Amino acid sequence: MRLKIKNGKIMHQEKGIIAGDILIENGVIVSCGDEDSRDYSADRELEAENCLALPGLVNCHTHAGMVYTRGYADDLPLMTWLEDYIWPLEAKLTPEDIYWGSLLAIAEMISSGTTTFADMYFAMDQVGKAVQESGIRAVLSWGLVGLQPEAEQQLDKTVEFARNWQGAAQGRIRTMLAPHAPYTCPPPFMKKVLAQAEKHELPVHIHLAETRDEIEQIQGEFGKTPVRWALDLGIFEHKTLAAHCVHLEEEDIEILRENQVGVAYNPQSNMKLASGIAPVSRLLGQGVQVGLGTDGPGSNNSLDLFSEMKAGSLLQKVSGSNAQDLPAGTVLDMGTRMGAGILGLESEIGGLQKGKKADIILLNLDSPHLTPVFDPTAHVIYSARGSDVQTTLVDGQVIYDRGEFPTIDLEKVKWEVRKRTERLAR
Ligand SMILES: [Zn+2]
Repeated sequence: MRLKIKNGKIMHQEKGIIAGDILIENGVIVSCGDEDSRDYSADRELEAENCLALPGLVNCHTHAGMVYTRGYADDLPLMTWLEDYIWPLEAKLTPEDIYWGSLLAIAEMISSGTTTFADMYFAMDQVGKAVQESGIRAVLSWGLVGLQPEAEQQLDKTVEFARNWQGAAQGRIRTMLAPHAPYTCPPPFMKKVLAQAEKHELPVHIHLAETRDEIEQIQGEFGKTPVRWALDLGIFEHKTLAAHCVHLEEEDIEILRENQVGVAYNPQSNMKLASGIAPVSRLLGQGVQVGLGTDGPGSNNSLDLFSEMKAGSLLQKVSGSNAQDLPAGTVLDMGTRMGAGILGLESEIGGLQKGKKADIILLNLDSPHLTPVFDPTAHVIYSARGSDVQTTLVDGQVIYDRGEFPTIDLEKVKWEVRKRTERLAR
């Protein structure tokens, strides 16, 4: 399959913004604005006039199946939200619910520019199925809670999932192990998880240092911060994706840097649940790699990474009282290249250049709120919305184009989710 994206502007990984065509062969970029493409015979041409071609966005932390909790319980403190609303509803979820919910979340993501997402939930084989069918790329992990009596069997099941689905969907699916958080995974259980991570060479995805309550609980029980706790248990001997990292001591940042832990910054979830502000400018300044996440649709309540990038930048500026904090170019880098890096996909995606996989979005700049254009990067972060995305490709396959979803029967998916929500919310 040969594809040409023509007449657009390209945000090239090395050259910045250039005009030209993108040529794609078998899912890989073979030319990125750097060749005369008049003689290239493509099977399909995509018109990109008035568009900026960008690398697809990378959502480093979410729980796609949580779409059923979107708008279900809002304006509540974290523990009340979880214990009185979210967990009781989630206890009723069937694997089929998760399949349809994940498809809905994927439709939202691909129509707002996300081409890769890192998901932590349960019934993950259903999420895998949704990823496979829809054509999106994903890093999947089955959340583990060590406090449950059936934790050991759960671990066996998640290891089996991680092994069976590694490299599935023509390589679009990668897997990790996901001990949920320090406060739900006591050390003896965590050690068993890590033994499996070691045996099967699987990275680890964990919630870490999210709230003050967590810090107090881990300090009280173990006399150390969650980051130090994780280090001492050997978690960071494995490639680790740590979601949140809101409350950090200076020593914690040093530990994250030394161990090359990837951090997923979820600004809107952290704001909505009043968890706090992750010290992202300090993390980046000290060489820690940080990507962006939306967290689940229950605590955000959207999966639009454009909105997340803007909020993430503004929050750093206001918290540091410095308008120069987290500038547009840096936050876009976090949403693309750096995000790909913390998921272990840096050699494949995250930038537009020859040799990279064709995970590309076309952002239509021909709108009142995007006129005039001085600096396209500033527009991407401060003015654009997910709904400005015209076309989305993963592995060179068009999976969203001007309101159409060639791989998803969206009407059916919405009908299923609405019908199932009635049962779940009863
Ligand atoms: Zn989360």
